[in-house]
Amino acid sequence: MECEQLKFDLVAETLAGRNGPDSPVLASHVSTCERCRRERAELHEAVRLLSAVPPHEWDGVPEPDPERAIARLRADTGLSC
Ligand SMILES: [Zn+2]
Repeated sequence: MECEQLKFDLVAETLAGRNGPDSPVLASHVSTCERCRRERAELHEAVRLLSAVPPHEWDGVPEPDPERAIARLRADTGLSC
């Protein structure tokens, strides 16, 4: 099994928050492939860091601001409605 084919499973496993691979194929591959093992660790770390950030702090805005989002969308798209 090639690394690229397993990438989707790797991401799915990470997003599901599992501690180990659910798929035997993935588990077997990760145990023998240094590249995928490293990528898996990086994915887990990224998810861990992201989950520690409250959503409203992602873009530096103290509170969710729909008006600001709409104004930005209007500016980006040139729409006036
Ligand atoms: Zn691999």
